[in-house]
Amino acid sequence: MDKKKVEYYKKRLLAKEAELLRLATKSEQDGREADEEATQDIADKAANSYTKEFLFHQSDEHRRLLQLVNEALERTKEGTYGQCVACGEEVQQKRLEAVPWARHCIECQEKQDKGLL
Ligand SMILES: [Zn+2]
Repeated sequence: MDKKKVEYYKKRLLAKEAELLRLATKSEQDGREADEEATQDIADKAANSYTKEFLFHQSDEHRRLLQLVNEALERTKEGTYGQCVACGEEVQQKRLEAVPWARHCIECQEKQDKGLL
């Protein structure tokens, strides 16, 4: 992949990273607020723990995504960005355009989704 393209994706990755970090901080805050708003009412308690669980899963998802974004940024430094980590082929531009942190090309992603990779 040429340098200009890598730079372009790197910028998008950095923007995504900033967004995820902002969301992670926000959901931590929301979690604390949910705690502070806890009352003795059982229905409220249930709603509160549901909210916390939801926020927890959400931040789990953010962490997972953040990890992928960080790995992709590593690959821009190593000069392997845009290559499928499984087969080494170039990842399709359309795919990177939609998911700049993609680790696999479409074929390998399909195999992975089916548990074949
Ligand atoms: Zn592949």
